[in-house]
Amino acid sequence: MIKVFEDFDYMRVGQLQSILEAQGIKTFLKNQFGFGGTGELPFVETVPQLFVLNEDDVDRARSLIEAETADNPPGPVWTCPACNEENDAAFSHCWKCSASKDSA
Ligand SMILES: [Zn+2]
Repeated sequence: MIKVFEDFDYMRVGQLQSILEAQGIKTFLKNQFGFGGTGELPFVETVPQLFVLNEDDVDRARSLIEAETADNPPGPVWTCPACNEENDAAFSHCWKCSASKDSA
């Protein structure tokens, strides 16, 4: 089992899983429910991770993921409405104060 992708946004990981499965690549999604009250686990254990079961599919899986993620470049950084901290587009909540991006 080889890890091919991980992202804090489990919807995105799930989306990539669907794309790979549609191509006949067997996958395994780990930590799918990583944010469901796992506060006591080390942070790294809760990142949704996408694995490919068959090593022969890894190169193809990576190509598909690369193609898919290239079509969705991250947007511009955004400024937190609560504390004015700049946040990477990948985050939906402020990394510093946890305010929602949309709470402006
Ligand atoms: Zn903030």
